[in-house]
Amino acid sequence: ERMTIEDLPGVGPATADKLKEAGYTSIEAIAVASPAELAAAAEVGENTAAKIVAAAKKCSNIGGFETGDAVFERRKAVGKLKTGSSALDELLGGGVETQSITEFYGEFGSGKTQVAHQLAVNVQLPPEEGGLNGSVIMIDTENTFRPERIAQMVKGLKNGDDYDPEDFLKNIHVARAYNSNHQILLVESASELAEKLKDSDKPVRLIIVDSLTAHFRSEYVGRGTLADRQQKLNKHMHDLMRFGDINNAAIIVTNQVQAKPDAFFGDPTRPIGGHIVGHTATFRVYLRKSKGEKRIARLVDSPNLPEGEAIFSVTTEGLRD
Ligand code: ADP
Ligand code: MG
Repeated sequence: ERMTIEDLPGVGPATADKLKEAGYTSIEAIAVASPAELAAAAEVGENTAAKIVAAAKKCSNIGGFETGDAVFERRKAVGKLKTGSSALDELLGGGVETQSITEFYGEFGSGKTQVAHQLAVNVQLPPEEGGLNGSVIMIDTENTFRPERIAQMVKGLKNGDDYDPEDFLKNIHVARAYNSNHQILLVESASELAEKLKDSDKPVRLIIVDSLTAHFRSEYVGRGTLADRQQKLNKHMHDLMRFGDINNAAIIVTNQVQAKPDAFFGDPTRPIGGHIVGHTATFRVYLRKSKGEKRIARLVDSPNLPEGEAIFSVTTEGLRD
């Protein structure tokens, strides 16, 4: 039987409640927490917190060294989520990966939100149709989630006539984030929800943050606040990564571009968030508008894939080649 956090030594009912309230709903979440974080969340001393974290590590096998074959075993569980465009899938090595952060960045109207909507639909399909048989959590910071658009995309699926868009909408858990702090907190709520759905027929296999950086960008203006912003963004990215690892979920974040003041050659724009976002995202995809429905996706940074470009279309039915 699976252990719950109440089974950890030093965690009584009151502490368990506080931990859950703060988003530590599973042994794994505790295992990867810092003792200081946990002490604050559970209102216990740091020594007690350190013991709880150590016990969680021991029974979750998170945090210790792993042998290469164990990593290989975990990587075998990595799922690939198809985008609707085979060219884009191929660019990504077969689709959007679980246990990874994939960042789509580009200017206004380049198709970031369209990609997010399409993946929220596709993730619900069975693997033989390119999905992960899962549900999705969407953190919407710009109020651009549109149920009507989801319905169009569902109807645009290969077996679209057989599907009821409402069934798809029921598996999309949307939360508006009102500011950057709220956005960070929502990942904790997301963990609780994922824990609840873990053994359902639609476990959470995708989390989307659209947009990752908009609130941070508007709230932290001026040089003096930049370090603070980067630190918050860094924590947020790591929370997301942890969510992906624990739930074997794909993580999609979108990002805008800003003008590069010192660019004399090449593309005069760059993504927001600087090296923090760049180093934490496993895959970075730069989206550009082309003629009409056409979009150009460029894979910028990847640990094991060549850089390259793909052309896809945003049609009324959804993403296509
Ligand atoms: P952003 O990168 O700013 O998030 P979006 O993903 O919102 O950009 O892309 C908006 C573009 O997507 C529109 O300009 C249009 O080209 C396309 N689009 C949006 N809705 C539809 C639709 N229902 N049918 C066809 N194309 C659409
Ligand atoms: Mg958008």
